[in-house]
Amino acid sequence: MSGSWSGSWPKGRAVIASIAGLSLLSVGLRDAAWACGNAKVLAKYAASPKPGALRLAALPPRPGTPKPAVLSPSAAKCDPSKFRIVLDVGHTAESEGAISARNVAEFDFNLHLAQRIEEKLKAEGFAGTTLLVTEGKSKPGLFKRVVAANNLQANLFLSIHHDSVPDRLLEKWEFDGKKGHFSDRFSGYSVFVSRDNPEFKTSLRFAELVGKEMRAQGLQYAQQYTQSIMGRYQHELLDKETGVYRYDQLVVLRKTRMPAVLLEAGSIINREEELQMKSPERQHIVSSGVTAAVKEFCDPRRAIHGPL
Ligand SMILES: [Zn+2]
Repeated sequence: MSGSWSGSWPKGRAVIASIAGLSLLSVGLRDAAWACGNAKVLAKYAASPKPGALRLAALPPRPGTPKPAVLSPSAAKCDPSKFRIVLDVGHTAESEGAISARNVAEFDFNLHLAQRIEEKLKAEGFAGTTLLVTEGKSKPGLFKRVVAANNLQANLFLSIHHDSVPDRLLEKWEFDGKKGHFSDRFSGYSVFVSRDNPEFKTSLRFAELVGKEMRAQGLQYAQQYTQSIMGRYQHELLDKETGVYRYDQLVVLRKTRMPAVLLEAGSIINREEELQMKSPERQHIVSSGVTAAVKEFCDPRRAIHGPL
């Protein structure tokens, strides 16, 4: 990591527990460096023992765990204080995901943004918001994240990531005296859901709310995932208005038993957008948008854009 602005990232990663490896399944669709949704073991937790606070040491799978109470689009208004949201921080400190154009780890971007979202949700009364931070190698932790969310009987799962590009699209440059890679070709946020999630329709509904709020803030979604240049990383665009893509194979989306969505908040391999993603202004926009989407999801009557 280099660059004068790296020093401002918060260092308060409260890792409560780590869990040794499990069997894994192939994430399959992304280069190892930016295999979003991979991760390895869970860890952290909300320091305060509020509702929803998680201790991973107490997370072995429990047979017969009841299915979480999931809101349907027609559900009545929920009680934010009892609504359990898992904010999954993509990747780990040891397996950092993508590397930005200025050689900053994606994990740091993910953690920073997820913390902003956590703060805003709790400020809006969503006391049961749990920040999920995983440690260790990547892939086995995918299942630990799923186990954690399922055992918490979360009402909603949101995984926070930042985007890159396939390795073959990278270009070389130097920043702050160090060699690096960039691609200014693409930018924008994107939202992913899995049809294999048992609450797919509700996942899609929340994903569309997130995309709608991003768009309302003037942001545009990344459109390259439908393009042939993405090769095996192509994804079906499910909603052309809000930028929701289908990504069935992601473990954290398909194995969770509650509505689950993955947000790529923006591209950190794009040199201009990396600076934007680093800025408090963009973090405020994204975290406010996600919080607004959660509030609408929790209370469908807040919807202002017609039937969902
Ligand atoms: Zn990622």
